[in-house]
Amino acid sequence: MSIFSEVKEHLTARQAAEGYGLQIKRNGIACCPFHDDKHPSMKIDKNYHCFACGVGGDAIDYVSRMFGLTQYEAALKLIEDFALPVDVRGSTSLSAQEKKRIRNEKTERERILHIQKRFEKWCSRTIDTLKDCLSEIENVSGFLTGKPPDLIFSEDYAQMLHAEPLIHYWLDILCMGKVLEKRELFLKDRKKVEEVAGNICAGRQRIMECSRGSA
Ligand SMILES: [Zn+2]
Repeated sequence: MSIFSEVKEHLTARQAAEGYGLQIKRNGIACCPFHDDKHPSMKIDKNYHCFACGVGGDAIDYVSRMFGLTQYEAALKLIEDFALPVDVRGSTSLSAQEKKRIRNEKTERERILHIQKRFEKWCSRTIDTLKDCLSEIENVSGFLTGKPPDLIFSEDYAQMLHAEPLIHYWLDILCMGKVLEKRELFLKDRKKVEEVAGNICAGRQRIMECSRGSA
């Protein structure tokens, strides 16, 4: 038997997680420590699974994710921290299959981390862009006060006013929404956000140019 299966025989994900401080409710639900979880989204027993961010696995996987260790290092840590009766000496050489499993898991973890970083970057960049859009609309509104009706009733300005509630809605999601809502915005409306922001910027320029022309 490999040390992985031996460790898992002694320890559930729940026992490991509790040992490292995770608060678990009696029904086996906890706040996921791997994303910003406000409402408990993680089910944890023999294995764990987060219904919000999608991570999951066994006790060893939990510890490897929590402490940034390889699966093998995580198994050793568990043996030591929980004083498990597992003989490590006999299993220092991993089978080819185990090595492959560890490699695959590492690649997968790095891939998820990379996507997550890109996603978080996009969120904070988009918040800035949308806030800029709102202040541009405000500037244009101020600028148009007292200007001739053909400027005020321009298609560009109408488009801006039309976009304003949508921008507020997106900002609400990005600043206060759940991870799932943000992710949906990223997956479904990324292009639309860019388009709206681009239109507002171009619209503002056209309005300014028009007013210069008519002045
Ligand atoms: Zn999670």
